[in-house]
Amino acid sequence: MKNFNPADNIQDLQYFGEFGGVNPSISDSSTYTFLSAKTMFDTFEGNMEGCYLYSRHSSPSNLYLDKALAAMEGTETANVSASGMGAITPTLLQLCGTGDHIVSSRTIYGGTYAFLKNFTPRLGIKTTFVDITKLAVVEAAITAETKVLYCETVSNPLLEVADIEGLSKIAKRHNLTLVVDNTFSPLSVSPARLGADIVIHSLTKYINGSSDTVGGVTCASREFIDSLKNVNSGASMLLGPTMDSLRSASVMKNLHTLHIRMKQHSHNAMYLAQRFEKDGLKTVYPGLESHPSHEIYKTMINPEYGFGGMMTLDVGTLAKANELMELMQAKNLGYLAVSLGFYKTLFSAPGTSTSSEIPLEEQTEMGLTDGLIRFSIGLDNDIERTYQMMRACMMELNILLS
Ligand SMILES: *Cc1c(COP(=O)(O)O)cnc(C)c1O
Repeated sequence: MKNFNPADNIQDLQYFGEFGGVNPSISDSSTYTFLSAKTMFDTFEGNMEGCYLYSRHSSPSNLYLDKALAAMEGTETANVSASGMGAITPTLLQLCGTGDHIVSSRTIYGGTYAFLKNFTPRLGIKTTFVDITKLAVVEAAITAETKVLYCETVSNPLLEVADIEGLSKIAKRHNLTLVVDNTFSPLSVSPARLGADIVIHSLTKYINGSSDTVGGVTCASREFIDSLKNVNSGASMLLGPTMDSLRSASVMKNLHTLHIRMKQHSHNAMYLAQRFEKDGLKTVYPGLESHPSHEIYKTMINPEYGFGGMMTLDVGTLAKANELMELMQAKNLGYLAVSLGFYKTLFSAPGTSTSSEIPLEEQTEMGLTDGLIRFSIGLDNDIERTYQMMRACMMELNILLS
């Protein structure tokens, strides 16, 4: 782990635009000319480094962002996509075919859960969902057909932490590919350094950070990324979830402030989590000692980026949760909205929104209660002031007394 700092790795990249601009020029072309017909043929065959063919395959702007995100995760290379789901689904379809089996955490993003539960069975791919925090349970679910172990570093919405080093040992023992969705913890955790084979992000969240676009990335070995982009058999190339060059250029500009933003998100979330826990509210935040995975998470993070900006509070009932969220929005403390990583705090009740794909009885079993509010804590300058304003809302609704 020594000498690896994801933000320094991004900082160390240097760009010269076409005209000496400090930002690389945006490649505003879907197709590219060749000076010789032979070069075009070789590029089709995938043998021409530095030549572009067609922008669904790759474009200069996308390659710049690929390179920066690969540097951040410490993988050989990366492939950006039009959305997080546009990274997750081709990656899994590249790794698995009919008859194959996936072992996945049961607390994952609702869209990924729906894909594995409802969609991939149509293609003959089966998934077993497990409690990812119990390594023995994970290993027991592996069969002769298992190809992939799938999890999120910090899971949505319950903030369970996956022991990536432990899972990596299991994956190696059984010759599986460990795929980790690191959307909730960019910079804080470097899954590939802990043994993950493939690291995925929804760029829509922290990495872009301005809630103005969707985007995704798969960070992996050159061999795997080449297979995803293969013109004859690559799931990304053939399914076509390509990011637009204008977007990748704008995401990259936002990536350059990610380290500053993550520190502030983490600082603010830690502050509120500590205060609300002390006030007696059921608070889940990986930075709290009361969090079941606090000790392991402490050993996994690059400490300067903290425990992240996601926190949950349980206010008892869905009715109370809804009242509180509406009041907080009215007081301009944030927005009642899904997603995360925005400058302003976002809150939603996951049972009725982002995790609504998960059947009710399964939600109960995994501890997803009705009164749970998921917060993506914003970049507020004075977090004590925010705390006092949130507290006033809770007292008005008798969620907090005195
Ligand atoms: C949002 C999200 C996704 C999906 O990303 P999109 O950009 O919305 O397609 C995947 N995983 C996690 C953890 C997410 O939060």
